[in-house]
Amino acid sequence: NFEARLPMSDIPEINQLGASFNRMANSLEGVEARRRELIGDMTHELRTPLTVVRGYLEQLADEEIEPSPEIYRRLAKETKRLERLVNDLQELSKAEAGYLAINIQRVNLRPLLDSLVEKFTDQLLEDGPVLRLECPSPMPLVLADLDRTEQILVNLLGNAIRYTAQGAITLRVWTESSRLWIAVMDTGIGIAPQDLPHVFERFWRADSSRARQSGGTGIGLTISQRLVELQGGEIQVESKQGLGSTFKFSLPLA
Ligand code: ADP
Repeated sequence: NFEARLPMSDIPEINQLGASFNRMANSLEGVEARRRELIGDMTHELRTPLTVVRGYLEQLADEEIEPSPEIYRRLAKETKRLERLVNDLQELSKAEAGYLAINIQRVNLRPLLDSLVEKFTDQLLEDGPVLRLECPSPMPLVLADLDRTEQILVNLLGNAIRYTAQGAITLRVWTESSRLWIAVMDTGIGIAPQDLPHVFERFWRADSSRARQSGGTGIGLTISQRLVELQGGEIQVESKQGLGSTFKFSLPLA
């Protein structure tokens, strides 16, 4: 705890120094509180898969369960989840601390969108949803970081595929008063109205058991929101349970 605060003085210069010292102390206190909270949340998230792994290993050691390919598969799955969590957490802690480097340039997003559509189409199941791209031609240039924009789109498209069994996933692009909007629309399970305000909170999952099964960590949207904001845009969600969800974000036009 930073208890240090300077009292007011009669000399204006000293007063100014004191005020700026106090502002710094306040902001450090905020950083420290956020850091503690993040570590608390991270510890909680890491504990679950670790407990599962330890449980299996102890049961195997005590010969309470037989070693089988199925047990090893479950162990591998939980380990993989730990790995994803650690990777996501690293990105999240950088984003929360404001350390994510961002490199804004005038870019045409069309090649990125084309290559993402190609990549994600390969991942779609034959009886699953189709993926389509609707964008203006020629594509207006934006002021954005290409890698960070790709990261956002990979998150949003990954979610759309994860939570959509059938129908279509549409990547739609349009311009609206000096902004370019990019929407990822799906016809999937949707999100309940009471859940919508929480989707961007870190570690939040609508149905943790299902999200865990599908490998979700509840971090993707939190990072995406930070990345959009770092580029001067905003991100929004609309959804109807059972019908589908639309996540859209904006970027400044060049
Ligand atoms: P996760 O890794 O769990 O997908 P996210 O932060 O990306 O983490 O998403 C948080 C939660 O929001 C998900 O667990 C899921 O419950 C919900 N969600 C995100 N995208 C969608 C979507 N397209 N359709 C339905 N639910 C979604």
